[in-house]
Amino acid sequence: MTAPLTAYATAYGPGRPIWAVDIGGTKSLLGRFVGRKLTVAAVIRTPDDPALLAGWVRRQFPRGTAQLGIAFPGGLDENGRVTTWPSRPGWSGYRLRDELGRIAHTVVLRDDCESAAAGEITRGIAKGRSDAFVAVLGTELSGALVLDGKVRRTVTAEPRTLGHLAILPGGSCRCGGTGCAQLALRTLPADDRLGARLEGWPDGLRLLTFLGDLARFLTVPTVVLTGGLLARPVLRAQLRVRMEAYGVEVLVPTRPGLSSLLGAAVLEPAGGAGRAPL
Ligand SMILES: [Zn+2]
Repeated sequence: MTAPLTAYATAYGPGRPIWAVDIGGTKSLLGRFVGRKLTVAAVIRTPDDPALLAGWVRRQFPRGTAQLGIAFPGGLDENGRVTTWPSRPGWSGYRLRDELGRIAHTVVLRDDCESAAAGEITRGIAKGRSDAFVAVLGTELSGALVLDGKVRRTVTAEPRTLGHLAILPGGSCRCGGTGCAQLALRTLPADDRLGARLEGWPDGLRLLTFLGDLARFLTVPTVVLTGGLLARPVLRAQLRVRMEAYGVEVLVPTRPGLSSLLGAAVLEPAGGAGRAPL
């Protein structure tokens, strides 16, 4: 399991720009958050060598940056060192906090799914909701639980987590398991082949049944569907209809690919999160 959430929170002036980095499985984003507005400042394909990404981040930031938030999909130990990231084995052992932490006075390093949930519950589509389940459908599948307005911690890049629960009839996963839920994301067809009821995506139907049952089991009134895949209009509309059949409120952000970046720019006091091994 990953180490406790690493957070360094110090006071910062309202209205001061916050810089955020979302390190993704395919691409990494650098954003600037001022007031209520998040702007994507730069995008890079996530390299296999973490030093390349760190160098890129340093070149993007102005000197004297006050605050930097980082969303990361892999496992981290208590010192901010990468313990595991199956899709990027070259990152294991990298001192992510040390390498990026020198850029800014205040650094928040957090799981990318937690970031997505924190962003949407505090500044995004689910603002004002106290209890919700947040599913992130991107390169991988991850989930986070929000209870009483707080994001309960989860992990996304290790076996036995949401994306690696066995729900499909077959298929080998890089975690060593078979039938992992996130394998469904790889079989997603083009929108014109999805079908009116997603019948062109049988693995997706199993995935939606799983997510719907999970929401019902968790007894949360709201499900937030986000992640890069939700940028596809036909898919997002049909996922919403399917999930609403479970009697839950379904929210899809207008910019689902930016949820983790938004959350990375939202500071949360250290120690404010619990743990839910989803
Ligand atoms: Zn797996």
